[in-house]
Amino acid sequence: MSTSELTVDLDAVARNTRLLAERATGELMAVVKADGFGHGAVDVARTALANGATRLGVTSLAEAVSLREAGIAAPVLSWLNPVDADFATAARLRVDVAVPSLEHLSAVSVAAGRTATRLRVHLHVDAGMARDGAEPSAWAALCRAARRGEQYGRIEVAGVMGHLGCADDPADPCNARARTRFAWALEVARSTGLRPRQRHLAATAATLTDPRSHHTMSRVGAGLVGIDPSRTTPLAPAMTLTAPLVQVRRVRAGTPVGYGHAHRTSRTTYLGLVPLGYADGLPRVASGRAEVLVGGVRRPLVGRISMDQAVVDLGADGVPGVGPGAPVTVFGPGGAGEPTVAEWAAWSGTIEHELVTGIGARVPRRVLAARRLPELAGCSA
Ligand SMILES: *Cc1c(COP(=O)(O)O)cnc(C)c1O
Repeated sequence: MSTSELTVDLDAVARNTRLLAERATGELMAVVKADGFGHGAVDVARTALANGATRLGVTSLAEAVSLREAGIAAPVLSWLNPVDADFATAARLRVDVAVPSLEHLSAVSVAAGRTATRLRVHLHVDAGMARDGAEPSAWAALCRAARRGEQYGRIEVAGVMGHLGCADDPADPCNARARTRFAWALEVARSTGLRPRQRHLAATAATLTDPRSHHTMSRVGAGLVGIDPSRTTPLAPAMTLTAPLVQVRRVRAGTPVGYGHAHRTSRTTYLGLVPLGYADGLPRVASGRAEVLVGGVRRPLVGRISMDQAVVDLGADGVPGVGPGAPVTVFGPGGAGEPTVAEWAAWSGTIEHELVTGIGARVPRRVLAARRLPELAGCSA
């Protein structure tokens, strides 16, 4: 092999989407923020829409605009924008926006008035993580103002959304409190005359573990690309990162390796040079723990991972058949014995999400198309 490469397997995305669509009791929104969790937003979006997802979700309006520019016409919701975001463009491109405050509501209403369109909004309540969404104390006023906006014909409250802060641990009582707060928020919305058709709280973990949180729609991102934060359901990882060895050399016992001489060889051994480093998404903090697959066997990376390269200890006898140009698998689904993204996350003290969204832009990408699966009933994508 002649270059490092990130392979994205859309067949895995297709299978994960089908599983999640089956588990969700309502509609499935495919969350393709952060470039589809690093897997390619447009590819993941198209694959998910063809396999049971009915809507798309992103954080910023710019992400929604990219989907439209790629020719995707499916409903899109954007939920994290500053008050001075370009809501007129959202109106023009028929992108739904989340509204977490009165300030956002008035900005959205002004944009709707100026473009003579009715903007579809989802009122966003903070279900208990003090992050995005309206505080409970501000909720009733937001609902009343949104209802007035509907009566003026500026907006339509198409949805109410919340988000769970502890769903990766289904036993955490924080989940029940969040469900209760969301139910209260729906009741308040109803009492002000709003009739939101989409009511959504669950992301991947709760979609897999807690039907009480499903309401009319689940918003799933991580699960599409094979990450289950609840660790209850085997999903198919969709990324494989490989690189060719640049050099192989034999060194004596006691040879210092890499910056700071953080490692010294304990015996005569063969070292291989891997042309990937932290600029490509291998966390430097995994130095001294991480392994790779080379020639069918696992071998440790030794010394510090540097910006562009890392060193693998091939062992006292090397690995049969492994020389310059031999392929190294940094991570993949795990089926051939290669490390998984989950192992890299453990070695790095982080979660899989951070690994998959952190692959550097200079790594060439290869996309494997999804195999055609039987048509889904009721799916026209
Ligand atoms: C990222 C995100 C999701 C998707 O969460 P996953 O756990 O990746 O499925 C859903 N809703 C909101 C508000 C998000 O920010």
